Amino acid sequence: MNIIDLYEKYDNLYYIGGVVRDILIKMPSQDVDITVEGNAIEFCKNIDECEMVQSNPDFGTVRVKINNQIYDISSTRKEIYPKKGHLPRVVEIGCPLKDDVIRRDFTINALAKNTKTGEIIDYVGGREDISNKILRVLHDNSFIDDPTRIIRGLKFAVRFGFSLDEHTKSLQNAYLSNINYDMCYKRLKDELISTFNLNSNRAFETFVNDKMYKLITKKDFELPDYDIQGLVRKYYKNLSNVWLIYIALIDTEKLELNKTETKIVDDYKKLVELDIKNDYEIVRAFEKCEVESILLYEITKKDGKAIKYLDELNEIKPEIDGNDLKKMGLPPSEKYAKIFDYILQEKLKNPELTKPEELELAEQYEKKLSKNNNDSKGDS
Ligand code: ATP
Ligand code: MG
Repeated sequence: MNIIDLYEKYDNLYYIGGVVRDILIKMPSQDVDITVEGNAIEFCKNIDECEMVQSNPDFGTVRVKINNQIYDISSTRKEIYPKKGHLPRVVEIGCPLKDDVIRRDFTINALAKNTKTGEIIDYVGGREDISNKILRVLHDNSFIDDPTRIIRGLKFAVRFGFSLDEHTKSLQNAYLSNINYDMCYKRLKDELISTFNLNSNRAFETFVNDKMYKLITKKDFELPDYDIQGLVRKYYKNLSNVWLIYIALIDTEKLELNKTETKIVDDYKKLVELDIKNDYEIVRAFEKCEVESILLYEITKKDGKAIKYLDELNEIKPEIDGNDLKKMGLPPSEKYAKIFDYILQEKLKNPELTKPEELELAEQYEKKLSKNNNDSKGDS
């Protein structure tokens, strides 16, 4: 038996949520959610060909192996939000499909498709909203229960070119002018990551202009006059921390940052405090920083120094190394660092310097250092 046989045999299995939306929009899905109308764990127990890998009875979810493939299957469930802004509590597992659907964020994400018949079940007008490109919440408390939905809405608006329906917009505005800061910032951070990793000026403009940024700070913030999307496209190849380039401009205090993220933000804050005067100081300031910190500096200061570093100075490096100094008869010592530093300064002034010229300069400089050292010994 494979999953298709399962789909055809039972009539209480559904594709649910984003995957049905993606089928209708004709977009590839990032993940496929399958639900059983009923209890998925009990359902899978009764199928010989389903090997249970893992199950979570509190949520009614189960991971199974069928024909050597892994699938996550959930139960229909009903949830409530006893503590607004925090994780919901499951109050019923195996509820009617309708109750599972109406706990969801937007009508476009509240569709189910029967895997046997292919029938699309739409209790909330999701299909019509998809055709009209509208994002609509399912009830008036939606953002109060879970403010991360505001960022999810932004993500879908940007990804699909959809807009909030008028009433949803007014509920969003009402929430944003009266935010409950006692919320689960981990979930908010996850949504900020997936939204801002899309690298979209439009997302950032909406985030700022519609005051969604107030979710992460009580301070005011003005949109910088900068094409961040273009900058990121040009200079940032590894896409995992793009989101932080946008969010660190505002405030990251409420978000729990990991080690790499913390370094990016700390370095950025230090960089903007520096008074960088020449090419040598540019290199020394940026060389140990992640590219995200360097781009943040550029967006904030707009003085061209970060761009000069990324375009040219980054490439200029002395050709000589410790082995060359050893060959000159110089035993390894703290002098090495001074010599490399000097050669870097000279190389930045004249990037055409050849390796033999560098060696000659290194030799001269070493003599000068020794002389100064002897002179100062003589003085004492
Ligand atoms: P993506 O394509 O980014 O995966 P998605 O809509 O599938 O989008 P998921 O985070 O995978 O989003 O969630 C799957 C489904 O779970 C959603 O389609 C939606 O029905 C529901 N869901 C997810 N997050 C929330 C939330 N915060 N509040 C209510 N329902 C949610
Ligand atoms: Mg999904």
